[in-house]
Amino acid sequence: METTEKKIIMYDSPKAATYQTNVEGWVSSDGRFWGKGEHNEHMARYTGSTHRKCECGAIIETRSYLSCESCRKKKQLENYNKLTYKAYDGSPVVTAFDDQYFFNEDDLNAYLLENNLDSISLLFCEENNWFKIEGDYWADIMPENSDGELPDNLQKALDELNKVISELPPCSYTSGKIRTFYSVKK
Ligand SMILES: [Zn+2]
Repeated sequence: METTEKKIIMYDSPKAATYQTNVEGWVSSDGRFWGKGEHNEHMARYTGSTHRKCECGAIIETRSYLSCESCRKKKQLENYNKLTYKAYDGSPVVTAFDDQYFFNEDDLNAYLLENNLDSISLLFCEENNWFKIEGDYWADIMPENSDGELPDNLQKALDELNKVISELPPCSYTSGKIRTFYSVKK
């Protein structure tokens, strides 16, 4: 007979802990034993330390980011500069590094003036359009003999709804993969 009982080990049972005399390996500063080898050394140092060096030499917290803030910014800029460039044409854009959206040139120019900026790195936005409601929306509860056919009046209403959806302006925007640049006009 199968049993699903959870194995019980009593505190004072010999199975709960054993006294070892011949173990060798890394122990982190919190007392945890990791064992031998490079990976265990890494894990012990990772759990046992609070800070480490970024590849540039800066001191950072062990369990925060992989690199320091200035290296992360440098990498971000490198990745940004690899993107395709297109001249600014007034369409919706977002600032490359801090998610500020601008839907026209006036607002963008005003932002630069307010913040005393000569120019700004941007990304063109991509449109998020309202999703249409597909006919299989109710597939999980429809009777098996319906062949996916909706009641006529429901199908008609759905077609009308989808027509309205298809004519709506974009629902929202997110940052895209094409970069652009804008210089302030004074
Ligand atoms: Zn760094």
